[in-house]
Amino acid sequence: MSTLPLIGHLIDGKPATGGSRSQSVFNPATGRAEKTLQLADKATVEQAIASAQAAFPAWRNTPPLKRARVMGNLKVLLEQHADELCALITAEHGKVLSDALGELQRGIENVEYASYAPELLKGEHSKNVGPAIDSWSEFQPLGVAAGITPFNFPAMVPLWMWPMAVACGNTFVLKPSERDPSSTLRIAELALQAGLPPGVLNVVNGDKEAVDTLLTDPRVKAVSFVGSTPIAEYIYAEGCKHGKRVQALGGAKNHAVLMPDADIGNAVSALMGAAFGSCGERCMAIPLVVAVGDATADAVIAGLKTEMAKMQVGPGTAPGMDMGPLVTRAHFEKVRAYVDQGVKEGATLLVDGRALQVSGHEDGYFLGPCLFDNVKPGMVVYQEEIFGPVLGVVRVNTLQEAMDLIDAHEYGNGTCIFTRDGEAARYFTDNIQVGMVGVNVPLPVPVAYHSFGGWKRSLFGDLHAYGPDAVRFYTKRKTITQRWPSAGVREGAVFSFPSSK
Ligand code: NAD
Repeated sequence: MSTLPLIGHLIDGKPATGGSRSQSVFNPATGRAEKTLQLADKATVEQAIASAQAAFPAWRNTPPLKRARVMGNLKVLLEQHADELCALITAEHGKVLSDALGELQRGIENVEYASYAPELLKGEHSKNVGPAIDSWSEFQPLGVAAGITPFNFPAMVPLWMWPMAVACGNTFVLKPSERDPSSTLRIAELALQAGLPPGVLNVVNGDKEAVDTLLTDPRVKAVSFVGSTPIAEYIYAEGCKHGKRVQALGGAKNHAVLMPDADIGNAVSALMGAAFGSCGERCMAIPLVVAVGDATADAVIAGLKTEMAKMQVGPGTAPGMDMGPLVTRAHFEKVRAYVDQGVKEGATLLVDGRALQVSGHEDGYFLGPCLFDNVKPGMVVYQEEIFGPVLGVVRVNTLQEAMDLIDAHEYGNGTCIFTRDGEAARYFTDNIQVGMVGVNVPLPVPVAYHSFGGWKRSLFGDLHAYGPDAVRFYTKRKTITQRWPSAGVREGAVFSFPSSK
């Protein structure tokens, strides 16, 4: 029997156990198993759904302002517990503490936006749409909603989902990533402390069995998913087949276009953070630079090589680190194999991080930053999402050539252009087939009061995550038309279709 601390679930406002299977949660900086995670079985997930279903009627009828106040309280608690939460993120994900704080802050901004729900739910009203007839639309909650989240933002991505869902009057069952669940679970405990009634937010840890229960149970009305594209596609098809509203955000391969007139020094700094921040494990990371002209490519490569040589790679808890380890041994091996593959395919490996050893952390999943030149569209390292610290330079001759490459790629999550030419930037933002676009901004992640989502195979569904789209996703519109005829006034039957003529 394992003596490691056991992570269970949070059901009906209480810690819960359930499920006969379990798996280890590792610290990626040491490679050691630190906790055991219980994997919920069908019955445990059904318990969580039942709790959410039971909590729905009272929560739906709680005044929106009272629901919003819980979000206000939670924001304060998250700020007070920031150090504790970041330590949990870094211990299981590996990212450096300052990066963990960045994701937590972005999550808190979503909680803050959810506290404006009463304003966002006000609906639409029209007086006198006909004689003595008034009409209005209101936005009613759906019931039980579910969220399934990835490992790379264990605090932020769940906060994209459930705060707005519950602020709109829904109840929720959340299934975090099994690789780094502790910060997600701790935030849910803080939500209870903030005043969320039992059952409004339930957390079940688990894998495919838990997910499939959420996808097929008729009590779950909507599913929000963030993760890799093959799973996103599955979640969307399966959820829709079972009559649910689904938004499924998938993977990415984001290109940065570097124009010959760009400020190369600033572009190099921006690319360093966008390619290697969080060890490249971000869906908005930049793994490809498309340089327009050989002189541009040569200049950016020179700058990148200088900066990469200065990077500090080590445990995310150590001061001054720029980059921590990859999340698991399996992912480390997968990313390393991509670097081998790039070499085999004929890309030029200019900086090779494969031999990196971090002293005292020999069993950690550390890979040094890697830089390829001469990456070509036919290569696997060009096509596939690597999700690691591997940056490739693609050489083209014109902006149009760069844009054609981006448009032909299966993913359309994020992109950016570095230029001083307003006309080129405007043409790029207007025409590129990508959902989130930056101009001299490498990670154009929308703020909490806009919405987040890619195009093409980076998102399945219509509505984007968080922001105004989340209010629409977690509510259904009802339109009421009302007439109060004056007492004693009788009207004859009308057989033509009612109109304002
Ligand atoms: P993943 O797809 O492996 O897992 C995501 C979730 O799906 C987890 O909760 C996991 O338990 C569950 N899952 C995994 N396999 C499943 C299966 N066969 N059936 C049912 N559920 C399953 O993704 P990940 O590795 O945790 O996260 C990285 C991926 O997420 C990358 O592809 C990244 O681009 C993507 N991502 C996308 C966005 C976005 O907004 N588009 C944001 C963050 C991450």
